[in-house]
Amino acid sequence: MEMEDYALGFNPFFADHSKQDRRLRPDLCGLSVNIQDLPGQSLKLSKVLDRRTGIVSRATLVYRATLEGRRDAGDVVLKSSWQHHARRSEWYVLQQLHEDSRARDHIVVAYAGWEQENTSGAHRRAKFGTRASTVLDDRALRHTVLEYLNPITKLSDPWHVPYIGWSVLKAIQFLNEKRWYHRDISIGNMGFLTLPECRGVLVKLHDFDLSKNHGSSSETPHWTGTLPFMALGLLKHQESPHRLGYDVEALIWCLLWIVRVYDDGKPAFNELEDHPLRGWFRDWLSLHDLVDRKLAYLQPPTRRPFTNTFYRSLDGVMTHLAWTWAAPIREWNNLEPSESEGPETGDGGLANMYEDSRTVTLQTWMEERDWNRPRSPCSCGDHFADN
Ligand SMILES: [Zn+2]
Repeated sequence: MEMEDYALGFNPFFADHSKQDRRLRPDLCGLSVNIQDLPGQSLKLSKVLDRRTGIVSRATLVYRATLEGRRDAGDVVLKSSWQHHARRSEWYVLQQLHEDSRARDHIVVAYAGWEQENTSGAHRRAKFGTRASTVLDDRALRHTVLEYLNPITKLSDPWHVPYIGWSVLKAIQFLNEKRWYHRDISIGNMGFLTLPECRGVLVKLHDFDLSKNHGSSSETPHWTGTLPFMALGLLKHQESPHRLGYDVEALIWCLLWIVRVYDDGKPAFNELEDHPLRGWFRDWLSLHDLVDRKLAYLQPPTRRPFTNTFYRSLDGVMTHLAWTWAAPIREWNNLEPSESEGPETGDGGLANMYEDSRTVTLQTWMEERDWNRPRSPCSCGDHFADN
């Protein structure tokens, strides 16, 4: 496929304007990139953070960079990916959301975004004489400059978990209020920064590649998110319209993942075979099989500690969290598999899990346990202190 060739030759799209000879270089670190629409500002690329191939954002490359030429310059991220030409860009989505000033507290800040000229399939094919309208899978190379967020797993103390849970719930609710779903709540899409004014820590969501406006028809299959964190209802009914509860449940799976997998910010195992939750992302036979496995994980009869030794002090509260969320489906799990596979009634409460009111239930549950109060507040009192 023509696109693949372009994807493989991904790096050399930037000519180095800081060098006289403008030759293309295989290693772009140290390179300066001009920002289209922002004259006088440029990016100095320092490190490749992530190199991904996915269904929606094919060949995504993420650089850490320094934004030069503006007053609040600092560490940023340059994200470049091949995306459907017709799909709204992450830059567009984030600009819309940031029209509300509260967005800064919940989601990543975007500084710039542009589409590389002449990279869409339609344009390239048209140049060779093919009618552009015949191109169905048309992609273009898009660049977005974003605020740098630290990986969430660096907030590694047990008492950080409630703060992460509360912060991300608030972010999901903020998006919902603006009539957006994130649709890919996962460990990799949460991050944090330290506010210079109060030394408080702010937890935010990033990566809006799969996000969707409530009113828009789905442009991409919405079960392309990160599998281990995907809601049971979504795994079971992949064609159902997206719901607020799917994003909320993904948050719960993320928290359960952190307290089982990480030990002071690092995975607590060496070999993949020893991964305590490997059944969530490999060796399953079907999505329904995965649903059964994850459901069994939540159920009292197969109860094991929800936490590893490092997070053992949270075991009681994480158990209660899992059971509180799973409460409507316990009955379903007690049915014989043949009965549970039947018509809609066979779901025995699965649909009830995703009523919008359950988000309120979860919020109340967190408030009752002081998850909304930083244990060690910053100087402004709204965040927890960074040390
Ligand atoms: Zn603060």
